[in-house]
Amino acid sequence: MLEVRSPFDQSLVTTVAAAKAADVDVAVAAAAAAFADGRWSGLQPRQRARVLLKTAQLLTDEIGWLAEAESRQTGRCVREMRAQLARLPEWLEHFAALAQGMEGQVPPFSDAKHLNYVRRVPLGVCALITPWNHPLLIALKKIAPALAAGNTVVVKPSELAPVAVLELARIFTAAGLPAGVLNVVCGLGAVAGKALAEHATVAKLDLTGGTETGMLAAAAASRNLARVCMELGGNAPVLVFADADLEQAVNGAAFGAFVASGQTCISAKRVLVQEALLPAFRERLVAKAKGIVLGDPMAAGTQMGPLVSELQMRRVLSLVETAAPQGATLLCGGVRSSAAGCEAGWFVEPTVIGDVQPHFSCFQEEIFGPCVTLVGFADEAHALALANDSRFGLGAAVWTRDVARAHRVAQGVRAGIVWVNAHHRNDPSSPWGGFGHSGVGRENGWEALHEYTETQSVVVCLDDTPFDWFGGAERYN
Ligand code: NDP
Repeated sequence: MLEVRSPFDQSLVTTVAAAKAADVDVAVAAAAAAFADGRWSGLQPRQRARVLLKTAQLLTDEIGWLAEAESRQTGRCVREMRAQLARLPEWLEHFAALAQGMEGQVPPFSDAKHLNYVRRVPLGVCALITPWNHPLLIALKKIAPALAAGNTVVVKPSELAPVAVLELARIFTAAGLPAGVLNVVCGLGAVAGKALAEHATVAKLDLTGGTETGMLAAAAASRNLARVCMELGGNAPVLVFADADLEQAVNGAAFGAFVASGQTCISAKRVLVQEALLPAFRERLVAKAKGIVLGDPMAAGTQMGPLVSELQMRRVLSLVETAAPQGATLLCGGVRSSAAGCEAGWFVEPTVIGDVQPHFSCFQEEIFGPCVTLVGFADEAHALALANDSRFGLGAAVWTRDVARAHRVAQGVRAGIVWVNAHHRNDPSSPWGGFGHSGVGRENGWEALHEYTETQSVVVCLDDTPFDWFGGAERYN
């Protein structure tokens, strides 16, 4: 068994099973049997959609307590979890609708004697491996298109935050999802996750996690020629031009950097500000960071909770500690919080680092915590060069009131998602995924649904004229 502990006070939240490879085998076999007999894959899209819509309805009724459960296991403020979970039914509704509109194609086969139609068919057993930062959102982002397309799934949630994903499986069952279609195996990444990623029966591996984990798991899955979708790390640039609304740009950068205690893959880590605006921006961002209220994530007034684990806190602090020796200036934070009530939690004070050069580790590496690096830039070309100086390419934001510049810069940034005068906006219809070391494949929208299918091309002969190639027929077709 594994213990799940609150990162705020180390109290025991629950215990879950620690699956071994043999347990993963059982789950995959259940999913394979459920796929093969057509109890789900054989239903019409409309029938599958009904189950997804019913799940959306039942999930809506349980969001209140699920938000609290998410908050307890991850340490994220309950107000954040309520806001996030309130939107989850939209993913089920969206993919229920898309599944019903998923059309095939009739390619223009070059001779009139044949009709070719192309169907989209489900892949089979899909393995979904999910992280701890948005446990339910990320699981559902994958489960909804996978099931809508007719696949069966095995989900391996993070060992740190498995609770709500198990509850989601219960809700799907109550909504009428047949047994064996959605399976959850809790366990360690290096044991259960590894066994699932390399399982020969898995047709697709969809993982959200760190880049190094993604590389290992994708390599294992590729040995079986399984498809892969990898949503991995990020180091989002925020480009603030001198003509931006200063107040809104500071609020946007602070939201992007400190929501979820900075533990999001599109967190605003590299804030690039045009030199004329930099002093005023720096002053306001530091004041904003210092004003964030840390405390019990379950308390209504808390604005930032602890990091998810001691290991994550130590990783963050050790990366921040490289900044000053390299020549940067710690403008605020950078230490474990000693605020009253926070003593037992893995809190890091909201951190702003100034005088950063692009080669510093704090600029190049993903700091998965509430930390911002601030860098000045001269002009648009300089801003883009800094923004694109990264192996990652997931999220980016541009702050300006100049419409032409907004689009020019958005198109110049190498990132899968670019916000203009906004940050961290996500929608079931809007493609989500990264360039470079941020991953491959896309969540959300038609692309995600299509990536959970493969095409089958059916070629039908319309000609009744007898054909016998070995009897002297002149033409092959
Ligand atoms: P990890 O990479 O540590 O883990 C992700 C998942 O993979 C967990 O379920 C983990 O299990 C599992 N896992 C670990 N090792 C293996 C393995 N060898 N084979 C198969 N599965 C394995 O990431 P975190 O959970 O720490 O999440 C943080 C990372 O995720 C950050 O780098 C962040 O940028 C990225 N992320 C990306 C997002 C995106 O949309 N692109 C969104 C959110 C986060 P266990 O927890 O039990 O170790």
